[in-house]
Amino acid sequence: MREIILLKQGEMVLKGLNRRGFEEKLMGNAKRRLKKFGSFKVYTRQSTTYVEPLDENCDFEGAWEAMGKLFGAVGVCRARACEKDADAMVQCAREYLGDRLLGVKTFKVESKRADKTFPMTSIQLSQYVGGELHEAFPHLTADMHRPELTVHLEVRETDAYVHADPEPGAGGLPVGMGGRALSLLSGGIDSPVATWMMAKRGLIVDCIHYYSYPYTSPEAKEKVLDLARLLVPYTGKMCVHVVPFTKIQEELRRSCPEELFTVLMRRFMMRIACRVAEKNDIQALATGESVGQVASQTLDAMVCTDAVCDRPVLRPLVGMDKEEIVRVSRRIGTFETSILPYEDCCTVFTPKHPKTKPHLEDLVEAEKALDVEGLVDEAVENIERVMLDL
Ligand code: ATP
Ligand code: MG
Repeated sequence: MREIILLKQGEMVLKGLNRRGFEEKLMGNAKRRLKKFGSFKVYTRQSTTYVEPLDENCDFEGAWEAMGKLFGAVGVCRARACEKDADAMVQCAREYLGDRLLGVKTFKVESKRADKTFPMTSIQLSQYVGGELHEAFPHLTADMHRPELTVHLEVRETDAYVHADPEPGAGGLPVGMGGRALSLLSGGIDSPVATWMMAKRGLIVDCIHYYSYPYTSPEAKEKVLDLARLLVPYTGKMCVHVVPFTKIQEELRRSCPEELFTVLMRRFMMRIACRVAEKNDIQALATGESVGQVASQTLDAMVCTDAVCDRPVLRPLVGMDKEEIVRVSRRIGTFETSILPYEDCCTVFTPKHPKTKPHLEDLVEAEKALDVEGLVDEAVENIERVMLDL
């Protein structure tokens, strides 16, 4: 019999009057992600979104993996459809969950009836199927409070479904519920995680990357695009703005004190990002900074970089330790790419003794030696846009 996917809604259930909007967004995002895996029917009943393959040609495994990356679903689970008949449900549970039932000692059966014409009540159905399963798997004991495995039965309009407990889903809120952010994406470990976290809160994210050809190689840029591609299953379609940054760095090196180099460079990154955000109706920037991680990520440095921004700079990793960030990075699948050994534009021009407590006045003074607006204009004009889709 057919297998389907159930998506359990999380926080969005709490959103009261907005709930309909959240559900629509979740379903729309699910449908877009499912397109390349064949035709699926997607609908929502009682805080559960059902994903049903419509024919044999669907790539069910592909769809299952994609749904695990769908923000807004706290839980995901596979279910088997069967006839709306108690014995058919017993048979289905024995086949579909047999291996798992053999691997546990305690279980219970829980039933839900959407079809109220079904001849048994939920309790009667659970008792009947529980009894039959107990006979088939005599090593099991029923435990109503803390069972190792719960066999769920759902009697719906046309079929019944059998499934185990949901696995954790991607969580968060459906992308598209919460405005737009432009994420500064480097080739490191942190910024892909930051980008993922902002999308998890329902933001639509685009990325911006600064590269310093020929100081950094084409492979370094390709690596960043690969990271962005790994994020697309979570974020959905995104634009990566690739900014040529070499001239600005060379000008800085020629005209400014070396110890201010890093913060000056970051102020340019922020100015350019704000311009791009303005042009594209994006309300906020996002970075992968976390307080105190490196010399340029002191609070003083953040004050100096934020001084050139005309919109909020979101720093989702601000309170996280490196190990926590690495753990997320592994889980979402960006870690292995992040640690590939290509140089970043920042590392190429890193000063030997960066100032950890820069003063805003010193930076403003140093920038007087530069045509700041001219350099920003030129970089913005030469941006290359790479569109990535699901
Ligand atoms: P990451 O692991 O994200 O590279 P990091 O620990 O190397 O972070 P920094 O080099 O200080 O930290 O950069 C801080 C943040 O600035 C990055 O997380 C990213 O958001 C942004 N950033 C740095 N370099 C670039 C770049 N070449 N292009 C785009 N954004 C960048
Ligand atoms: Mg970096």
